Amino acid sequence: MNRTLLAFLLLILCFSSSYSQKTNFVKAQESLDTNGEVNFTFKADNQAQFQEIIQFLSISHKHVDKNKLEVEAYANPETFNQFLQYGLDYEVISSIPEFDPHKSSSTKSTQAWDTTWDAYPTYTEYVAKMNYFATTYPSICTLETIGTTVNGRSLFVLKISDNVSTDEAEPEFFYSSSMHGDELAGFPLMIRLIDYLLTNYGSDAEVDNLVNTTEIFICPNANPDGSYDGGNSNIISNPTRANANGQDLNRNYPDNQNIGRINGNGGNTSRLHYDSTNNHYEPETEAFIKFEESRNIVLGANFHGGVELVNYPYDNTYNEHVDHDYFERISVEYATNVHNDSTDPTYMMVDYDSGTYPSPGVTHGATWYVVYGGRQDYMNFYRHSKELTIELSDTKFLPGNQLPDHWDWNKQAFLDLIKQANYGLQGSVTDESGNPLEANVTISGHDDMNLNTWVTSHSQLGDYYRLLEAGSYNVTYDAPGYTSQTIPVTIVNNAATVQNVTLAATTADPTASDATICENSTADLSAAGTGVLNWYSNVDDTVPVFTGTNYTSPALTSTTSYFVEDVITRPNVGETGNTANGGFFAGGENDRYLIFDCTESVLLKSVELNAQQAGEIEIQLQNSAGNLIDSRVIIVESAGIKEVTLDFIVPVANDLRLASAEMSTGFNLFRNNSLAGTNYPYTNGPITIKNSNVSTDYYYFFYDWKIAPIKSAREEVIVNVDPLPVANFTHVVNPADNGEVTFTNTSSDADTYSWDFGDASGSSTDTNPVYTYAASGTYDVILTSTDPLCGSDQVTIQVTVTVGTLGLEDDSLNTLRIYPNPFQSELVIALPGGFNPSDLKIDLFDIRGRLVHSAFEIANNDLQIKNLNLLSAGTYLLKIMDSESGQSLVRRIIKQ
Ligand SMILES: [Zn+2]
Repeated sequence: MNRTLLAFLLLILCFSSSYSQKTNFVKAQESLDTNGEVNFTFKADNQAQFQEIIQFLSISHKHVDKNKLEVEAYANPETFNQFLQYGLDYEVISSIPEFDPHKSSSTKSTQAWDTTWDAYPTYTEYVAKMNYFATTYPSICTLETIGTTVNGRSLFVLKISDNVSTDEAEPEFFYSSSMHGDELAGFPLMIRLIDYLLTNYGSDAEVDNLVNTTEIFICPNANPDGSYDGGNSNIISNPTRANANGQDLNRNYPDNQNIGRINGNGGNTSRLHYDSTNNHYEPETEAFIKFEESRNIVLGANFHGGVELVNYPYDNTYNEHVDHDYFERISVEYATNVHNDSTDPTYMMVDYDSGTYPSPGVTHGATWYVVYGGRQDYMNFYRHSKELTIELSDTKFLPGNQLPDHWDWNKQAFLDLIKQANYGLQGSVTDESGNPLEANVTISGHDDMNLNTWVTSHSQLGDYYRLLEAGSYNVTYDAPGYTSQTIPVTIVNNAATVQNVTLAATTADPTASDATICENSTADLSAAGTGVLNWYSNVDDTVPVFTGTNYTSPALTSTTSYFVEDVITRPNVGETGNTANGGFFAGGENDRYLIFDCTESVLLKSVELNAQQAGEIEIQLQNSAGNLIDSRVIIVESAGIKEVTLDFIVPVANDLRLASAEMSTGFNLFRNNSLAGTNYPYTNGPITIKNSNVSTDYYYFFYDWKIAPIKSAREEVIVNVDPLPVANFTHVVNPADNGEVTFTNTSSDADTYSWDFGDASGSSTDTNPVYTYAASGTYDVILTSTDPLCGSDQVTIQVTVTVGTLGLEDDSLNTLRIYPNPFQSELVIALPGGFNPSDLKIDLFDIRGRLVHSAFEIANNDLQIKNLNLLSAGTYLLKIMDSESGQSLVRRIIKQ
């Protein structure tokens, strides 16, 4: 070795460290230039520095060793610069993708990704497949585009359920994958899961049960710009973790632990989950926040890669979730499930929290490493949901030929995790009419009100789902305007406990009287209450038929019920002067709040904001100590006055706070500071806004509060409908031909009757009269049937009677002379020639048709009827029948 060479080698030795860093620096710049991100490892000097750095760097799931202070990280140009200021050594991982899909898939058919499932789809194929699912299985599958990425790609969520276009009272489950664009195994596996559910529905009992009882939402790729980054945007060649703005989407969500909290917690003003360059959440994050706000996701999982484990909340605090045991159990169930189904003895066995929670394949998030702005914590805190993070493969970009194995290993675990959404405590909360109620469902002595672990029943469907570990609990149901209830329940693991609850209104029912009307008339109804009266046709209708005190029904044909409720409206409260001039705003304030008292629990529906530009705010309802009661993340799309929905259930308390818990940087909301202390307090109904936390000169941000009305139960008002009378009868003519007719009344809905028998003299008020006509004839019989309330009806029916062979008046019989008339004790019938007295029959009837005499004697060809002196005076009918001619005659005669 010569001296020159030795000197050269010494030189290299001396400078090797800095030379290597320079090389790394060049590599990093190249990576940042081409991909917008750099992937590297570093070792921190001490624990404090380590914790500080991992708060702004995006830590890979692959390599974290807190004890050795070593970590693998991703950075964008901004965060990499921040890291460089620490002057630490680092090693750039030069090739981010661990596998080039084209090396193996080039020999595959283009359909390999959806037939043998051992390749990745192009973006075009992915879009086509998602649309194919929706058009091929429209009865159980709908496709929603929830938003658009930075580069204009679609963010798809596919819903699978029976009656898929209806929101049913079923728990919602959400799978999404690859929000880290280079953690890809879950992407094709989710497409395959969709395919499995759709193609097996109707032939596989397990799939049928899942689809019929659950609303399953699946987003196979939450960051397509990251996955399809690189030279050819249609194929996966050089995927990145971040989105096209270089932002780690799993550090981009609102975070309850990392905000400038007004009281306690101190807060971290670095807002690392917030893109200060764009002054906005990333478009992908906004899309998911809006989608998740539109749903009531009960349980979900978010697929990643780089390691093989199930990670459960919290990521942003070492604290245990109140449902820690539940999370640990379902995570162990998943890990055990896939481990047992795998052919790789090391699959899903890593345990990063073994010292605290020893369970292979399962790790408590923060115990592994702390993440702020992650979606898991967002879902658990802001959406009162439950979400796991599942790392599917040590290799982030899993080679295509390993996808079928990973499907086989995870398939049953995918299905079993969905089943968990239907276990635990579930049921519905309704009012006394059976209408759904939005109520807080809290587990007494268990839920952490500061960490939003309680759930709310669905405002439109009333259903609620509270996933819980086995045990005995007391559940409290609270809704403003209703009496709270606390009910003991027993939870069994992997089974549902159903508890339906009816809450009684605290507002008294309105008073209203039943009514009785006649058919086809209207009813004039009235009710009395203290508020606005709504009238409904059905007890559970949502739209009233009338609002007001006096309701006139439509004409009714049958007895009908109406239901009237008393609605105590709550007037808006607060300052309405929201148009300030440019001087009166405060940007990015995290500690501005209004102080108010509430004397009766109410639902605060919404407030108005006046924004100077687009941005985000978290609005919190806090108690007098600044502890959280409820919170909402509000995305303001554009400048101007906005009404924003809060739906906060406000308890009875003094010195409550409505606070800006976080505002995006530079986001200016107009306050009103022209009040000079003169307008406080604002009192309306149960709310009194007393002050702001700064001074009475300022009114902060939240204008024109809308308070939901309080309702009574619905009082039933019965309208009894009395049918109109219908007159009708039948009749039978006595076959003896004595003029007697029996009438049978077949009228309906009448109380009294009046008969006119049509012979000028006969009438009756009997219900079913028997009447005897004196003479043969056809009579118009008129029946009038009367109801005392609803009037009368009349029917005329012709009745034909013969008396003897009445109706055939005989000329020769008419030649008979009968005398005297009036008579006293004796009548004589003088027969003309041609009559044989022995052929004749003589009957004498009284006026009611009763036979009173029929004997006679023959003398000198006359007939003599004697011994009539006992008959009472009056009109009689004499009937003479000739058996020879078959003719007869009736004469009216008078007894004196
Ligand atoms: Zn990830």
